This record gives sequence, structure tokens and C-alpha cells, in this order.
Amino acid sequence: MTPVVSRFAPSPTGLLHSGNYRTAIFAYLFAKHSGGKFIVRIEDTDAARSKPEYEKNIFEALVWLDLPADETYRQSDHRARHRELLEKLIVEDVAYVSKEAPQAPGDRAEVIRFRNQGGVIAFTDVIRGSIATDVTDLGDFIIARSLDEPVFHFAVAVDDADEGVTHVIRGADHISNTARQILIQRALNLPEPRYAHLPLILDKAHKKLSKRTGAKALTEYRDIGVLPEAFLNYLALLGWNPGDDREYLSRDELIKAFDLSRVQKGSAVFDEVKLFSVNQHWMRKLSVDDFIAHLNVGRTTSYMDSEMLRRAVPLLKERAHTFSEAREMLFGELSCLFAKTSLDHTLLLVKELPERPGMTKRALEALSAALQALPEGVSAEAVKEALMPLADLEEAKGKGGRGALLWPLRYALSGRERSPDPFTLVSILGHAEAVSRVQTAIAILEK
Ligand code: GLU
Repeated sequence: MTPVVSRFAPSPTGLLHSGNYRTAIFAYLFAKHSGGKFIVRIEDTDAARSKPEYEKNIFEALVWLDLPADETYRQSDHRARHRELLEKLIVEDVAYVSKEAPQAPGDRAEVIRFRNQGGVIAFTDVIRGSIATDVTDLGDFIIARSLDEPVFHFAVAVDDADEGVTHVIRGADHISNTARQILIQRALNLPEPRYAHLPLILDKAHKKLSKRTGAKALTEYRDIGVLPEAFLNYLALLGWNPGDDREYLSRDELIKAFDLSRVQKGSAVFDEVKLFSVNQHWMRKLSVDDFIAHLNVGRTTSYMDSEMLRRAVPLLKERAHTFSEAREMLFGELSCLFAKTSLDHTLLLVKELPERPGMTKRALEALSAALQALPEGVSAEAVKEALMPLADLEEAKGKGGRGALLWPLRYALSGRERSPDPFTLVSILGHAEAVSRVQTAIAILEK
């Protein structure tokens, strides 16, 4: 058996979205599963729309996703070869230079057309089975605008053969192009690769995922702190399954399990919420050091006590779905961990009942005593267990409910109206810091 050669052939005419990279991922996994080659070919035949910055972005994304190509090509580097084969087809009268009546400004007066004999072209798609197309209606279709400007169908057919591509894995939107490409291959006596047309990826509104309707570029997900392993994992399972109920697969597990036979025919819906939940899974698997490295708060850690940052990681892992969300928490709700804020006397007393003057201060004193009795390094659960009976006692005495005790405690610890619950705060701040903050609040009430 010839070794597998698959390829990813993006056009650098825009920032690619998840659907495009899903194609790259499937082509990569398929090749690597069988120890074959994965090729990346930049299809820049459309010179007006192809831009170097988009090409750069594609390679950046592939590096980020860790989908290294065994060989890379740029279609425009093959002009001489395309020209040679176009000339050959013209000499053989399989193609001809056609005089055109320009319809619009910029239209060519001459193009190269393929002499289409009509009939039915059939091929066996690895995913969809037999596909037959009557090509009669295509007429003599254009294969080049000039000898140096082959159109996509021509360049693809030639390059796939020249690069030894055995499997063309691409989106289902290319099914209708396949018959034309097969006609060109046959005319040039080129080997026919196997085709596998992947199910389309739809957006939430069940429309084809598209930049025009708001699909994000992959690099936007990278920039908001989605991990490449999460992206790979999520996209690999968009239209494919490993044959068991595993939801989280590492790159090696994906390579091992991947098989085109389990690619579904029906389209798949891209769900950002699901992507973020897969990302949370992979974020949680990171060590504390790796997690902090990904947080990328290097320049600000000087004010962030690094030990405090380490202690905040479990909470960030519990709550955040992306690293940008984690950073937002850190600089928002959790900034109270790193710097004390001045307490507002009125806010401290929000739960004070007029008929019970001094209750807030007494509650804080009771809490301070309970906190001092706690061992160091205690979990939020254990803090809760130790403090809740006090809160319940207050409630039982009808002094304004649990909030009468929990609110001033949380506010004393955080100095903010919005913050994590007081038990979590104590567990992160540590015993000594928590007691000192509560004492500060008591001192304010004594003034
Ligand atoms: N360049 C084409 C595209 O970006 C892909 C061609 C192919 O995979 O055959 O849609």
C-alpha cells in the first residue's frame, strides 16, 4: 500500500475560522494515524485576494495547533508547471483559447476552456460513498484566464498529483468541484486521489460557519486564552467520534483513534460554549506553574504576591473557562487578594439592625475568634464548616439572618461589594491575613 499523503490547502484570502482548521486537523490526524505525510499548500492562485498577512496567520495558527507540515508549498511557485500542462492540453486540443465577449469591465477577451465531452463522472467518496455528477451542463468550463493564471480547479488537480497526495480531505462544499477536477486529471493522465468530503460546520443559527456571519478567526480564540489542546480536542470531535464515549482526547490519543470511517455525513454545529467547557477541562489539567505561565500576567506579578497567585489558581480553575476570563477575575473580583482596599463604614454596617446596635461589631469579633482557632492552610469547605454554626446561631436568634454575619465578614475580607464567598476568601488569604483584615474592620467600627 502506498503511504498516505494528505494535505491542507487553504487560500490566504482572509483569516481562517474553526471550520477551515477542522479540515486541517482531520487531514493531519488521518495522515499521522497511518504514519503518512501531511502537506500544507497555500493556494494563492487568486493573486488579487491573496495576502501575505493571511498566509502568515495560517502558519502561525498551525504552529499554535501543533500541526507541523512535512512539506509546504505555495501554489504560485508552480506557475511554470501549470503553464506547461496548459500548453500541453491546448496542443492536444483538449483545451482551447476561447475568445470571449467581455460582459463587465475587467472581463477577459480570451480565456482557456476545457473541451468538455459531457456524460457522468462518478467517484467513491470515503465518507459519502458513490457520488455521480452529470457534467454535460458544465459546458466547456474555464481552466485558466491565461497561461499564467490557472483557475483553482486546474491548479488543484495538478498540484495534488505532483505532490503525491493520496487523500483529498476537505469540506463538503467542494463536492461540486470534484467532477471538474477529475476531468482535468483524466485529461492529463494524473492519478486520481481518494476523496473524503467532511460534513459542513454550521453556526448556532444552522447556517454554514462563515467569517461574514461572525465566525471568529482561530487566532482570536488563541488570544482570549483557549488552549491549543482544547481547540484540537473540540474540533476533532466536530463531525467525528472515537467510537466510545470519550470526550477529552489528547493529541496522541486523537492520532491513535482517528479514522475516516467514523466521520459523520451530517453537518455539525459549532458551539462556543462547548468549546469553552472543553477548554476548562484542559485548563484544569495544567500544573499551577503552567497555569500561571498561561495567565501571562508577568508584568503585573510584581504587585501580585506570587504565593497568593498560586493559592488563587484552584479558584480560577474552578470558575474560568478561558485565560482571559481568569485574568478578568484576577484583576476584578480577586484583586482584593493582592491589595487591601479601604473599608467604608456605612457599607460595613449595611446589615446592622437599628434595634440591635453593635451587632455587626460583635459578629466580627466572634468571627475573628473563630478564625484564629482555625489551622493554617484550611480549605474553603472547612472554613465554612467552622463559621456556619455562628451564622446559623445569629439567624436562630433572629438578628437578621445569616447575612448579618456573612456580609460584614465578606466585606471586611474583600473591601468590595462583589467578591467570592467569605469561606473561599479565607482559604486563599490564609488565616493570618484574614484575621488582620477582620481586625481592621473592627477597629473602624470602634472609631
Ligand atoms: N483552497 C481551497 C479552499 O480554501 C481548498 C481546495 C481543496 O481543498 O481542494 O477552499
